[in-house]
Amino acid sequence: MSGRIRRCPKDHTYTLLPSCPACGTATVPAHPARFSVQDKYGRYRRMAKTESCHD
Ligand SMILES: [Zn+2]
Repeated sequence: MSGRIRRCPKDHTYTLLPSCPACGTATVPAHPARFSVQDKYGRYRRMAKTESCHD
């Protein structure tokens, strides 16, 4: 269901627009491959959550 979702590579804003509504940077399609990479970081963030509440 995320085929039309796009993401700003600069500030990670999710949008359906071809450019970021926040900063105007051209967005990229939020393909599943990119979500896989993000999931790796998500795991690290979950592991680090006991040390840092920054999120
Ligand atoms: Zn942006």
